[in-house]
Order: sequence, then structure tokens, then C-alpha cells
Amino acid sequence: MRSSRKSVRTGRWLALLALPLALAFSAPGLAMTSDGEVAPDRVSSGAQNGVGLMRIVVADKSGIDQLNELGVDLAEYVKPVDNGIEVHAILSPEESQALRDMGFDVQDAISDQNDYAENMTERAATMRALTAAAASTDTLTMLRAEWFTSLENQLFLNIEVKSSAGTDSTTVLTASWDSGAGTEIGSGGTATMSRFTDAGQYMYHRFSNPVAISAAPAKATITSNKGGSVTVDVSKWLGSPRKVTGNHPYVSDFVDHYMDATEVTARISSLAAEFPKLTQLIDLPYKTNGYRRQAQAQFGTASASIVYVTSKAYGSEGGNDITMSLVNPGVANAPLTVGVSGRAVTVNLATNGSGAISSTAAQVVAAVNGNADAAKLLTASTYRGNVGAGVVAAAAVTRLTDNLKAPASVSRDPFQMKALRIGKQRDGSKVGVFLYCQEHAREWVTPLVCVETAERLLRNYAKDPNTRKLVDDLDIFILPTVNPDGSHYSMYDYNMQRRNMTNYCPATSADPANRNAWGVDLNRNFSIGSVYDGYNGGSTSCTSDTYAGPSKLSEPEARNEVWLVDTFPNIKFAMNNHSYGGYFMWPPGAYKTAGREVLPRVDQGTEAFFWTSSDYILSRVQEHRGTGIWPGRTGPVTDVLYSAAGNSADEHWYNRGIIGWDFEVGADVYNPTTKRFTAVGFQPSFAEGHEEAMEFANGNIAILDVARSYATDKLQPRSELKTVKQEPGATTFTFTTSEPANVYYTLDGSRPTFDSPKLALAGMREGNQTLTVKGNTTVNWFSIDIAGNVESNYKPDGNGKNYNKQTVAIQ
Ligand SMILES: [Zn+2]
Repeated sequence: MRSSRKSVRTGRWLALLALPLALAFSAPGLAMTSDGEVAPDRVSSGAQNGVGLMRIVVADKSGIDQLNELGVDLAEYVKPVDNGIEVHAILSPEESQALRDMGFDVQDAISDQNDYAENMTERAATMRALTAAAASTDTLTMLRAEWFTSLENQLFLNIEVKSSAGTDSTTVLTASWDSGAGTEIGSGGTATMSRFTDAGQYMYHRFSNPVAISAAPAKATITSNKGGSVTVDVSKWLGSPRKVTGNHPYVSDFVDHYMDATEVTARISSLAAEFPKLTQLIDLPYKTNGYRRQAQAQFGTASASIVYVTSKAYGSEGGNDITMSLVNPGVANAPLTVGVSGRAVTVNLATNGSGAISSTAAQVVAAVNGNADAAKLLTASTYRGNVGAGVVAAAAVTRLTDNLKAPASVSRDPFQMKALRIGKQRDGSKVGVFLYCQEHAREWVTPLVCVETAERLLRNYAKDPNTRKLVDDLDIFILPTVNPDGSHYSMYDYNMQRRNMTNYCPATSADPANRNAWGVDLNRNFSIGSVYDGYNGGSTSCTSDTYAGPSKLSEPEARNEVWLVDTFPNIKFAMNNHSYGGYFMWPPGAYKTAGREVLPRVDQGTEAFFWTSSDYILSRVQEHRGTGIWPGRTGPVTDVLYSAAGNSADEHWYNRGIIGWDFEVGADVYNPTTKRFTAVGFQPSFAEGHEEAMEFANGNIAILDVARSYATDKLQPRSELKTVKQEPGATTFTFTTSEPANVYYTLDGSRPTFDSPKLALAGMREGNQTLTVKGNTTVNWFSIDIAGNVESNYKPDGNGKNYNKQTVAIQ
């Protein structure tokens, strides 16, 4: 709007000043200030007159001065734009029009009265909710109350409680507990609980760490500063007995050092050779990109004068043999030229009239890339998108390098991933279990867990009856490293490498200094709950440690996992071994941040199965050295850790119905002297890593126990209707089952089928929902366990009447 600028300047200045004065009378939003200028008076008008925050573009600083002179209410914001300067002003529609009439370019509103109204409505609703919550006593819902032992027989207490006033950040819960049956509440201790929120939503109150206690409590009372109170029984967490106890010596402890991917793959290959009757070695169809990189060199240090080059060939395939030099010709007025001899690239730099080097980084890049012979060998780039206007410095002959330091025994070729299939009968007729390790390269303990598990299964088969049952009755697939290239890189080049090695970065972030920031996070590359579908916890940035890859399932490593579970549809269970922290988790594993929209939760029966299995599996982990995985680190990924968009456990569960578990091996270690928990990290001393491998190999064997119980389960569940509450005119009830099972019911007297309502959970980490009826009601129902056994052998799809019936009466 250059014309408007002219019209507002110089000669017409005084005349224009009069305009807003006139406005003061025609528009009620303006008033005279004491010094005679016009300023908006919105406080007194109350109606606000449709005032909005408007965008104005002025040609230059003098336009801002004029707006100030006119008394316009400007925000503290000045932004250069293509055609001038953008400023923001608080204006009524009349004021906007007056300024437009004066030639100002008043554009759209940044916010207006509608936004204001929305904000006030939202604020009022929140205030009402808070006031209502403050006015009434809150209700406390008990989620979990458990004591457990860990390491050195130290006792700990875990309590999780949800307050109906929990969205109010001033709600404080305090827990007190006794020191054993019959003792006084409080005699065991008292502690304030933390308010746990995630993605801006209140989840529940808990202890941030389990509280160390000296005696096992029987009861605990939780009180809220909002008036609520609840007293509950404290149960024991873990320590359930082993299902099968053999009298034969059980051999274990087969790992004695951290192993790279080449070693673990060789180990399972030799196991396959040693036990041909019990195993099969499976070559997965997609080879990795390989432990290899293009060779690079960087010239210069100041951003504007840096030139970096990247070989076309991988370093191992000739890239490392390329050299380049930047030569000062030593004469005045020399041109910029590029010469290539074999694999040596020589850049003769240009000079000015006094003989000084005059070639800029951008000119060198253009000259190298424009030389046909040089361009066959390498690509030149400026630094991170810099225009490269700086003059380069001469540089001696420099050899390009892929910077890879693994010994020659580590192949630079695409890696052949291998899975070890273990089972007496490997024809697809047995329930399959997929145990896999090291999706994340730096988690060095995890491949040891897979190797130890395979060794135990094969070396105990002959003597240990429990092992024999597992191998005879199951079809077990063990993939010891999902990320072999990253494993090599983590061990030999950069120990904190999490991702694979495939570099998808454009030239603006592919310079050698970024080489530890490339690669795809394989546990974000799967197709369910992906960042590409809007889920939280994955990144689309090629240098992020949670980079999800250029598209779903872009990586051969992830496609191999999918191939395995698709090729062997008998696989019903999967365990994704990670480190660290001591977690045991299951789906859902991702949510959309807006509204914390979680992937569909598993049904009540499956959730109950998860918890029952947890008790057994984590008791086996505990057997090795006493480590008690915390109840607060057991549950759906989204409830106890964070959202992990595109992870593999969700892929297996939501796409195929495979029960997909996750371990984070490496539980925090408790120091009884300092009374603190210390995290173990990705690569603890081998002494600690070895212990973790032993205890979580126990855990993986326990997964197999659970899978075998499922495979051989012929027991039908039993269920009962339990009245919870009777009030005049309303009765509330729920169902209990003899084992984890789903309940389908009808309230209209009809026959229950799989299309009937299914009993749900009351909420996250809560018990079964309750149902309330307001008249005498005939309830028909049946239950079905996870293995598919139906109570009383009822056929929901048939015509039989052998379902459960009960009338719920009203008082
Ligand atoms: Zn991990």
C-alpha cells in the first residue's frame, strides 16, 4: 500500500488529524484524552463495540508514528513483512473503517469479540466446575493399594487413588497406613500423594516412587483436603507361586559379555545347528540397509564459508578412497576450476586482482556439482542451508571418510536378520509366541535377554519337565536384535544410538557433524497409532530421536517383524523387550494429544487377563534377585509411561489381535542407605546388565508359561451376579468371574449373544463397571475366557437356553 503511505504523509497531515476527532463523536468507542488526542475508552463503554485486534500493514516506520500520533492503541508487536511493517491495533469496526478511509491498510482480525466470548465462556465453565468441586466433598475411587518387596527384602507401598476433584490442581491427597492387621491407621506411616497428569489431563494421585515401609500394612486410609476419605485393604503385589516346579537342576546363565548384532546372530545360528530337531533358523526377507555410510569431508569452520562433500558410493564401496583439496593458485585473477584425476578432486580457487582467494562456499559448491567427473564421485553442499556467501580457505588433500569404527569382522553389507524358531512341532498347529529384542540399539541388555531365553529353552529341554512342556506345546520365535545396524553403531561409534542407521536427511541437515542424529526409530515406524495419523510420541524430523521414518513401515527391520507375524498366523503372543526402568506394559500405547484421545482400550476380560498374567510373570522376574516391578510401572503404555506413536506392540494387537507386551528391563535399584531409587541406564556395568538379563529371561520364560496355559486351557469360566447397592427404587449390580473373562448380558429378557452388551471397566485402572436398574429386571448372561471357553458350554450363536438367569429385585 505505497499509495496510502503517500496519502497520509506531509502536506495533508493536519487535515488528516482532524478525522479521528470527528470520529470521537460518531463512534462511542472513542474519547478525548486530557492532552487532546483521541484514545479508545472501552472500560467505560462496557459494550466493547465489537473491538478486535486488527492487523495493519504500513509501508515504513513513519506509518507507525502516524498511528501513534492518531492515538491508536497499538500492541507491542512490530514485524517486517514483504511490503512494509505489520503492526497490530485494538480497533472497533468504526475505527478500522476510519483508518481505511485515511488510506491505512487495515487487514483481518487476529482475534475479535467472538474469540473473547469463547474464552470467557470456557473460563466460566472451568470456574463453575471448580466451584462445584470445592463446594462438595470429593469422592475418592481406589485404583490400587499394594505392598511388595524388592531387593534385600525391603518393603514398599504403592497406592493409586482417583479424586472426583482431581482436575483441580489444589486437590491434595494424603495416605496413612497401619503396621499390620489390628494396628492403628497411621502407625505404619503417612505420606502426601502426587497428582499425576498427562497431556494436560488429570489421571490419578499416586506416590512418585513407592514408599519404603518397615511392616506390611493391612489397611490404608486416604484423605483429601476437599473432604473425601476412603479406607481400603492393602494387598500383596507379586510372589505368586510357580506353576510347575521341576526337581531337575535347571541350567541358566549363558551370557558373559555385551554382544553386538553379529555375535548374537551367530549365537542363535549355532544353537540352530546344535538342536536341529527342535529349531529352525528363519532368514527374514528384508535385508537392512547395512552398517555403512557415505564418506564425507568438511572444509572450513565458519558457517558461511563451509563446504562439505558426500560421496555417491558408500565409504566401504570406494567412498573412503576419494580425496578433495582446495588449492590457492598463488596468482592474481585466477578462475575457479575443478579437476578430477582418478578419485582425487582438486578445486583450484579463484583469486582477485591482488591475488587473494575470492571463491565463496556457494561458488565452490556450484563448481564441484557442475563438473561431470566430480559429480560422479561426490556431492558438495553448503552448511545447513547457509547461502554460502563466505570466502573459502585453501585446504590440503583431505580423504573422505564414513567415520565407521567397527572392526572388519562387522560386515558393511546389508544385514541378514535371523529369527530362531523353537518348538517340537513347528507346523503352525501350536500357539505361537514372538519374543523380540533390541529395536533400540543402545539397549544393550535386551539382546542378551533373547539369547539367554533361547539357550535355556534348548539346554533344559532334555531334563526339565516344564521346559519340555513349553517347547512341545508352543511355537516360539526369537528375534534377538531387531536393529542390527544400529547395534553395531552403538557399540563401535556412538553408544547412545537409539535408531537404525538409515539417513533420510536432506543436505540441510546431512553434514558430518550431524552423523549421530540420523536414523529411524523402529519402534515408531509401525502403522498403528502413527505420528502420520496424528498420534503423539513420534517425530517427522529426520534428526529427532523418535523419527518415525519417511512413511509407515518404511524400514526393512519393521517390515521383517510384520512379515513374521503375518507368515505365522498362529502367533498369539508377542513380547517387545526394551530397557530401562522396570516396566511391564501392554496396549494401548499411543494417544492423540488433543483431548488425549487414546487408541481403543482392551476389553474388561483382556485387561483382567493382563493383570493376572502380570502377577505371575513379574513374580518370576522377582525370583532371580528380589526385584519387584512396581505396580505403578505395570499397565497400558499410555497409563504408566507415555504415548509412543507407531510402536510394534500396538501394531501386533490392533492389526492382528496378538497380545503385545512390552518389558523395560533394568528396574531402578534401591539403595537402603540413602533410601533412594537410582536408574540403571541403557548400559550399566556388565555385572548389573547380566543380572537384568537373568531376571528378564525369567520374565520371557514366564510369558511362555502364560501362553502355554492359554494354549491348553479347556476350563470354562464361571460367573456370578453381585449386588453392589440397593436404594429405594434402584438396584446396582455387577458381575464377578472365576478367571479373567468377558461377560455378555441382556436386561430385556432376550437370549445373550456376542452382539449383547459386554461388561466394561469403570475406568482406567478401575474395577468392573456397575449397572443400575430401576425396576425388577431379568438379567441373562454368559461369560467367555480369553482362550474362548464359554461358561457351561453355552453356544451364543445357537438356540440353547443354558445361559445364566437371575432377577434383580427393586426395594
Ligand atoms: Zn527402547
